[in-house]
Amino acid sequence: MNFNEAEKRITELKQIIKENNEAYYIYDAPKITDFEYDELYRELKRIESEYPELITPDSPTQKVGDNTLQGFKEIKHKYRLYSLDNSNNYDDLRKWYERVKKEYPNENELDLVVELKIDGLSCALSYENGELKLGATRGNGIIGENITENIKSIKSIPQKLTKPINIEVRGEVYMPVSSFERLNLENIENGQKEFANPRNAAAGSLRQLDANITAKRDLHFFAYTAITQDLKELTNHKQALDLLKELGFEVNENHKKVRGINPVIELCEKWETERFNLNYATDGMVIKINDFSKQNELGYTSRAPKWATAFKFPPEEVWTKLKDIELSVGKTGAVTPVAILEPVQLAGTTVKRASLHNFDEIQRLGININNSVLIKKAAEIIPKVIRKKEDEDFGIYNPPIECPSCHTKLVKEDGEVLLSCPNRLKCPAQIKGKIEYWASKEAMDIDGIGSSVVDKLWEKNLIHDFADLYKLTVNDFMQIDLIKEKSADNLYNAIQNSKNPTMTKFLTALSIKLIGKETADIIANEFPTLDDIKNAKAEDLIKIDGIGDKAAQSIVDFFNDENNKNILLKLEDYGVKPKGSSVEKVSDIFEGKTFVITGTLSAPRTVFEEKIKSLGGKTSSSVSKKTSYVLAGENPGSKFDKATSLGVIILSEQDFINLSEGKLNE
Ligand code: NAD
Repeated sequence: MNFNEAEKRITELKQIIKENNEAYYIYDAPKITDFEYDELYRELKRIESEYPELITPDSPTQKVGDNTLQGFKEIKHKYRLYSLDNSNNYDDLRKWYERVKKEYPNENELDLVVELKIDGLSCALSYENGELKLGATRGNGIIGENITENIKSIKSIPQKLTKPINIEVRGEVYMPVSSFERLNLENIENGQKEFANPRNAAAGSLRQLDANITAKRDLHFFAYTAITQDLKELTNHKQALDLLKELGFEVNENHKKVRGINPVIELCEKWETERFNLNYATDGMVIKINDFSKQNELGYTSRAPKWATAFKFPPEEVWTKLKDIELSVGKTGAVTPVAILEPVQLAGTTVKRASLHNFDEIQRLGININNSVLIKKAAEIIPKVIRKKEDEDFGIYNPPIECPSCHTKLVKEDGEVLLSCPNRLKCPAQIKGKIEYWASKEAMDIDGIGSSVVDKLWEKNLIHDFADLYKLTVNDFMQIDLIKEKSADNLYNAIQNSKNPTMTKFLTALSIKLIGKETADIIANEFPTLDDIKNAKAEDLIKIDGIGDKAAQSIVDFFNDENNKNILLKLEDYGVKPKGSSVEKVSDIFEGKTFVITGTLSAPRTVFEEKIKSLGGKTSSSVSKKTSYVLAGENPGSKFDKATSLGVIILSEQDFINLSEGKLNE
């Protein structure tokens, strides 16, 4: 690229970046993904470093990119706020560290603090004598917006600190992912615009001229910087984080002090995948030199500190082409569309398929085959389609008229969004789906019986329902290509060994409409034998906490259905018999108490579930006002937030042990 070309491209890039800054910072409605923005920004930086004479003070690489929204009072920051330089690869991260370390030739390795980069809106809060006086957005780092009233409505921001000191606290206002999804659903229902991501939802909610609107939004704050002249003993960043916690702030617990760059990279690798288990968005890691004296020595560029840097994760969202829409028929007949995509790299994996949920969603997205679509990786394994390119129009995909498996005319039951195939008894896709589900981990947990084995057994006419699995012989399996004697033996034994499941597993495996594992568990807790369940009336079932009218009716209908009665008889003939309630009750210390478990505990969840049941308690999968306790392990999910908002008692694993031993009072 020669000088003239460079000058032309720089002007273009500055204009594009300026427009996108406005959409992102002022209107909280980005037009391109952060990844695309970062690529443009890096291109500008690269050309500017080749032709430094073309750098002007108004270039986005020379200033903190933000502007204030009209209507808010502007405020001049007491201490300037900066952005962060970032890299998206470990080589550049190492280069940053080497550059910094060169300044300290006599030191072996430097102390660093690694934190999650929370994808929210940075704010500065001023406290005088421990009292909150001012809250401001970063703005351009010199001038921000005065949002004190809005800040006061955020519960995790203390209005009074535990110490009467003068301090400026900085951190990130964010919206939990679950609250962001809820807000977007509400916005769709009310015909309002959706927010593109939790960051924009947080920024849009915080920068409301009417603070009452902010108060209604579920905003939180993680503190990460403390500036104070009052505590001379404060000499490093780790101490500052501990102080912030002591003062009453929420400090993100996933931070770590390390030595040298290697452990930093290990942490970046770990969080690159584990970030999807968090209930808040994070777009990278922030790495900071720990010692304040070194931070002061290293100083700042016009835009960012030299003593800190960010590592940006691979994008969570990416554009690709919708090649096809595949129709899949589930075990209860629901027909769902799945997006078949031009393969693309997303958050470290190659993605070829994405969820489209249902045909109403296709209508809402306004998409058809050939559209460019933005896909997003979330906690779910299969990514979802977020939107199409605005300027493309290929019409909207027409929902199917007939079942792709048995060609029966599809129906849409009243009040349901899903199209479904009513040919319950003969539709091959539904029957095969039920057989596969019967064998799945969540149900009877029969190793080796997945969709391809089920397909082949079906093609060879060896099975017609899940009960038929138990009449299969080793020879039957050997009729399938590629299955040799040893695997046939294994499959046969796995099936035979599954004949005595717990009542919960058995009920789950039957694929009764509306009865998943949790509801099956509730029923299994109430009825000791299968005959009791078969004979239960809808009015008996409704009385059980956690069973609604529709689920009760669905159970009654299932056991009255002739086809199901036949399958149950066949199962009995083959010796398949549930054990009844698998957990022996040893005490009633938890009688009448319902527990919900969330997060990672020191042992599998089933261990805790069984303990609860053995002490007379019940477990449930969702938090409600009726929940007695939430047992929360590491990285708890949205259930934790819901429990907090409902005031449900939260137990750590140790609290739970104490409670079960009668050592903890409520
Ligand atoms: P940045 O978001 O890349 O990094 C700096 C910010 O990180 C800080 O201001 C602070 O708010 C935040 N942060 C989060 N956790 C932190 C922690 N633990 N410690 C310190 N800081 C922490 O920089 P920026 O200048 O705020 O924004 C630029 C970025 O915004 C771009 O890289 C891009 O991703 C995005 N952007 C996107 C568009 C778009 O159109 N999609 C437009 C403009 C900006």
